[in-house]
Amino acid sequence: MSNHKKVLILGGGFAGVEAAIFLKKENYEITLVSDRDYFYIYPTSIWIPTRESEFSDVCVDLQELKKAHGFNLIVDGVTKISAKEAKVTLNSGDVIDDYDHLIIAMGASKMKHKGIENTLSICGSPEQALLLRDKMDELLEIGGGKICFGFGGNPNDSSAVRGGPGFELLFNVHNLLKKKGIREHYELTFFAPMAEPGKRMGPQALKMMDKFFGMLDIKQHFGKKIKSFEKDGIIFEDDSKLDSDFTMFIPAGDGHDVIKNSDLPLNEAGFIKIDDHCMVEFSHKDTFCDGESMDRPHNIYAIGDIAALEGYEWRAKQGHIAEVMARNVAHNIVERDKGGESFKGYHEHLNILCVMDSGDGASFVYRDDKRAFMIPMPIVGHWLKKGWGSYCRYSKLGKIPRIPGM
Ligand SMILES: Cc1cc2nc3c(=O)[nH]c(=O)nc-3n(C[C@H](O)[C@H](O)[C@H](O)COP(=O)(O)OP(=O)(O)OC[C@H]3O[C@@H](n4cnc5c(N)ncnc54)[C@H](O)[C@@H]3O)c2cc1C
Repeated sequence: MSNHKKVLILGGGFAGVEAAIFLKKENYEITLVSDRDYFYIYPTSIWIPTRESEFSDVCVDLQELKKAHGFNLIVDGVTKISAKEAKVTLNSGDVIDDYDHLIIAMGASKMKHKGIENTLSICGSPEQALLLRDKMDELLEIGGGKICFGFGGNPNDSSAVRGGPGFELLFNVHNLLKKKGIREHYELTFFAPMAEPGKRMGPQALKMMDKFFGMLDIKQHFGKKIKSFEKDGIIFEDDSKLDSDFTMFIPAGDGHDVIKNSDLPLNEAGFIKIDDHCMVEFSHKDTFCDGESMDRPHNIYAIGDIAALEGYEWRAKQGHIAEVMARNVAHNIVERDKGGESFKGYHEHLNILCVMDSGDGASFVYRDDKRAFMIPMPIVGHWLKKGWGSYCRYSKLGKIPRIPGM
């Protein structure tokens, strides 16, 4: 039975899908809007360029999720959000204004570097994973070349920097070349503008990464700001050039373009300001159209990569944090609607958690406010990550039980 309260969720990624699943369990009427008709499991997309996974292995059809959980689905792009008028405009021209709660979960845009069109990113639009695969095929056909993988920063928000998938993809490429017996024909380089990329994972992980690079004969090019990308290389601030036949570069996340043009409160990078309960943090001067103050409590939440994370300097936008935020918001909406005050916060759950794959194994990376460690897991780590990909798909589709907290 529906409790007739309507929740509009914008975005069908980790955050939006998790919120839809958990609010549906509480009998809310859910409408989820996504500009893609599939949920994309980004963490396992790292195997597409090396042909260890197909594109379809990484996608979960939103129609199937809709059927499994019974939410309404609109496949359309959000073009405008007016918080004050309580209206959401879609690409088709449709306007949605009939909701009791709004959850914004549309992920992040990317920093725009000069010459970025000369690069591909494993963290960009899902289709880029296929272009990376084509480029990899091309380079294998040629039989040798210079491969440069890297990531950049966002000076306005360090939590939006994403380097892990770059390391993972490079280690997978190394392994593919080794398996084919042609590794010595390729020069592999990892580059980043910061002096110690990966520092966020903690001092032990940083040392281990350095060791891995040495063992795998991967060159390191760190500590120089990137000026631009060219077809055949990367130009740095001192005009030096790193030659490259294939550049994979992960720009840091930046505020979502739709959000930057909205009336939502943003941090310097353009991420939505929220409180610990993921409620959007308007200023006390803001008012809705009816003159009501937008100061809390109100009915607009932001979760996942689109939200500004506060706290530890090592904090990072991650999928499991997006899901914690989603489950918290589902709980907080129920609590608010029944007049309770036992709200849940995301801050106490902030940690870095990643199984960093290398194609022939993985390392378990963990950091919170008390500990930071990296544990190598040869062979089994790779299969654990593969297993997690299947778990993610089938548990979201309701075909296998959920492990609490996962
Ligand atoms: C290659 C890669 C590997 C990763 N590995 C890990 C990992 O091992 N562990 C981990 O915890 N995290 C990992 N992450 C991070 C994790 O994937 C993100 O933190 C997570 O996807 C954020 O979820 P989200 O729902 O906020 O955003 P997204 O997953 O980006 O989803 C946003 C959704 O909004 C939709 N959308 C966007 N704009 C609009 C619009 N205008 N209108 C309608 N819909 C829109 C998109 O189609 C998408 O469905 C990885 C990320 C990448 C890219």
